[in-house]
Amino acid sequence: MSTKPQAMKLQPVRGTQDIIGDDYALFERVVTIARDISSRYGFKGIITPNFEFTDVFKRTLGDTSDIVTKEMYTFNMGDDSITLRPEFTAGICRAFISNGMHHQLPLKFFSSGPVFRHERPQKGRYRQFHQINLESIGSAEPTADIELIALASDMLEALGIRSRTTLELNSLGDDESRANYREALVAYFSRYQQELSDDSKMRLTKNPLRILDSKDENDKKIVAGAPILGDFYTENAKQFFNMVQQGLSAIGIAFHLNPKLVRGLDYYCHTAFEFTTTELGSQGTVLAGGRYDKLISMMGGPETPAVGCAGGVERLYELARTHLNLQQPRPIVIIPMGEAALSASWTLVHELRQKSGIVVELYPGNNLGKQLKKASKLNPSHAVIMGDQELAANQVVIKNLDQSQQSTVAFTAADILRAIQ
Ligand code: ATP
Ligand code: MG
Repeated sequence: MSTKPQAMKLQPVRGTQDIIGDDYALFERVVTIARDISSRYGFKGIITPNFEFTDVFKRTLGDTSDIVTKEMYTFNMGDDSITLRPEFTAGICRAFISNGMHHQLPLKFFSSGPVFRHERPQKGRYRQFHQINLESIGSAEPTADIELIALASDMLEALGIRSRTTLELNSLGDDESRANYREALVAYFSRYQQELSDDSKMRLTKNPLRILDSKDENDKKIVAGAPILGDFYTENAKQFFNMVQQGLSAIGIAFHLNPKLVRGLDYYCHTAFEFTTTELGSQGTVLAGGRYDKLISMMGGPETPAVGCAGGVERLYELARTHLNLQQPRPIVIIPMGEAALSASWTLVHELRQKSGIVVELYPGNNLGKQLKKASKLNPSHAVIMGDQELAANQVVIKNLDQSQQSTVAFTAADILRAIQ
């Protein structure tokens, strides 16, 4: 009796997806635009591993953050606990410290790649998604925050979507501001202790600020009446925030002050911002970031101020979809008829590809009508045809497929290119 092997599961893992066709082109465009524009601001590329020791994230993002409490892909390999990166910043700071880069400050890094979070999949929320990420390390001045936000805004502009987003801005103040605020929050939320979600009950003792970022509907109602961080700023925090706002206004970047914006991770201070849209349903944040002056020292590096942000590539291209022109260049097809023509055409095809920048496709066959029909799905502009007769005369026939005109030219890459210009 033979046992049939069990059928393999062929669907992608829940929360993951294949990016194909137009989506792939959009994806590439988003990353390319982000890379190009960030290079104008002096950002240099960095590639860090897709996974790190678990502590890199666990000890930095915060014990009560959603990511650390429930979203990390963590596994043991031998004696090591490893985590697939749920965000870029901690890994880049780890690289900054490991490579002793504090002698080269200031440093500005661009990166892009996959990010992994085990959250509930829905439209615009995946378990593997991709980010473009910017970190500006070494400046404690508000100019660095302004520059970063200006860069993010330029990127959205280049994608044709800036006018469909709102820049929401807040300041988390300095340590002293937050310590004072924390007391006021605990006093406020303690009055609603019974009604808070279980997560927020735990946050109340560990990190009450985190409750402000709760996604629970009932928590949100309670949060609406909570004290405002702005009322607890120190002079220093106030001044820093004012300078950021003045700088943005001076360069014409509109923003909306959102005193409830706290961001999902513990390492932020001072500036926090998000570019949001109402066009992507409930997953409306396309790019977000803030200042993190304590992170590098918390990880054991020298005290180093920094500010950074990340954009979700899938959300960005979804929003940009209707604005980006995805027209692919039209190819030319080379149709050699018969064995002799085929072997003669190889060098020609190779040369055309090397010299022209045109997309060149080879469609050998014996029946011209059939080959043209097969090639038509590529929407070619010209067909370059050679049968025995042309081969003998060292010529090719060029068919302009839009105008159904044809001409005969010499069998050289240069003559063919001249004829199709
Ligand atoms: P959200 O509030 O939507 O959960 P977040 O605060 O967790 O976002 P960040 O950690 O700031 O997000 O990540 C930066 C950007 O990455 C977000 O603004 C968003 O565009 C994108 N992003 C975050 N989580 C996901 C996800 N699960 N799927 C797709 N994109 C995501
Ligand atoms: Mg999240």
